[in-house]
Amino acid sequence: MTDKKLYRQRSKKKVRYGPDMRILIVGGGVAGLTLSALLLKRGFKPKLVERAPRLSKVGYVIVLWPSGSKILKGLGVYEKLLEKGCQFTSYYVSNNKGEILKTYTIEPVAEKYGPIISIYRPDLIDTLMEAVDPDIVQMSTTVEKIEQGADEVEVHFNNGKSGKYDLVIGCDGIRSRTRSQVLGDIPLTYSGMSGWSFWTDPKLSRTDGIVEYWGKGKFFGVWPTKDKLSVFTSVKIPEYSEEHLDNRIQKIKESFKEFGGIVPQMLEHLPDPNEIYFDTYNDIKLDSWSKGRVVLVGDSAHAILPNTGAGASMAMESASVLVEDLCRTDSRYVVNALKQYEQRRKPRVNKVQNQSRMMGKLVYSNSRLLSNLRDYVLKLYSNDLVYKYWDNLLKDPI
Ligand SMILES: Cc1cc2nc3c(=O)[nH]c(=O)nc-3n(C[C@H](O)[C@H](O)[C@H](O)COP(=O)(O)OP(=O)(O)OC[C@H]3O[C@@H](n4cnc5c(N)ncnc54)[C@H](O)[C@@H]3O)c2cc1C
Repeated sequence: MTDKKLYRQRSKKKVRYGPDMRILIVGGGVAGLTLSALLLKRGFKPKLVERAPRLSKVGYVIVLWPSGSKILKGLGVYEKLLEKGCQFTSYYVSNNKGEILKTYTIEPVAEKYGPIISIYRPDLIDTLMEAVDPDIVQMSTTVEKIEQGADEVEVHFNNGKSGKYDLVIGCDGIRSRTRSQVLGDIPLTYSGMSGWSFWTDPKLSRTDGIVEYWGKGKFFGVWPTKDKLSVFTSVKIPEYSEEHLDNRIQKIKESFKEFGGIVPQMLEHLPDPNEIYFDTYNDIKLDSWSKGRVVLVGDSAHAILPNTGAGASMAMESASVLVEDLCRTDSRYVVNALKQYEQRRKPRVNKVQNQSRMMGKLVYSNSRLLSNLRDYVLKLYSNDLVYKYWDNLLKDPI
């Protein structure tokens, strides 16, 4: 069809400009709430559906890079984040015996870009919710079926209702159903590592920064946030191995029995196994983040391994870029806007995902020779190099 014909055909249809577009967001996590808040701020009236019956009170510590947290400034809730979160000034790396190999200061990074903040995930969700009109959120709701037409998408919900939208945005996390509904079943990439997360007594460790213990193919990280201390562990586990609640405590103790420093004390005071969360560490790289009028944002599009603490920041950055592109389009050209969003975001996201995979190989090295060499080199790794590492991750436009 010629451009003229296409234009005439499009101009006969009702056009909804920017804020009048009918937008459905699936998933009320970090990406979905950031997106909703930014859209509302610009006069859009999206609808958000969340599968859970209430906004999550589950989770441990989330790290926010300045590139992600600064989005909260424009939403008027940055002060809340500072109140609820905690700012890192230092980063301590130990070997598995508990000997500190290196202490890094993060202050020069914070001076140039802004603070790196850790926050209890439910506190971040609450902070974002302060910038969202609760009337647009519908809990206990999920999408059963998505039918794409040329001009709109018809969505069927689990409550028997349906709706027509100019755009559907899947923010439903790493195991996104929106993704499988529109792009088919695409497997996650397993890192070979899995681990347990749990709360520990804040009196047991320092709280001015992250303390990490690097062993042979094992990792024990102690991450503070305000009045709380969480532990994030990794061990090499073959894919699909079973993990059982009844021997969870024994398994954790066994995995880190050779570790020193404060690890033995933390192992002595493990919480109830039901309060310990086990997860396999995966990421995903997709050829395309959208199909027609359905697009993915956050972990659904580009889940990142947890070791660099980048997932939430990348989700927030992606949400802000998509909103900019939606402000420059109308209901006819949404598909082009989605492609632009993807083109803009992919290089940065790929870089961070690759960095995360590389860090994983370094930290989780399973060879005694390599892990000894790593520990030796680390002692020589200056603060300047750590600054360069962060500068490289934060200097790019989002
Ligand atoms: C309960 C929970 C706890 C977490 N705890 C931590 C943590 O302690 N530390 C950390 O670094 N990261 C944690 N994460 C992951 C982290 O939030 C994400 O990696 C990152 O913030 C990217 O956010 P996201 O919005 O893309 O995905 P998520 O934050 O995972 O949000 C996805 C949202 O979509 C909802 N959802 C899923 N499927 C559907 C569906 N079919 N229909 C409707 N809604 C759906 C989920 O309930 C969730 O609210 C957690 C995620 C969840 C869901």
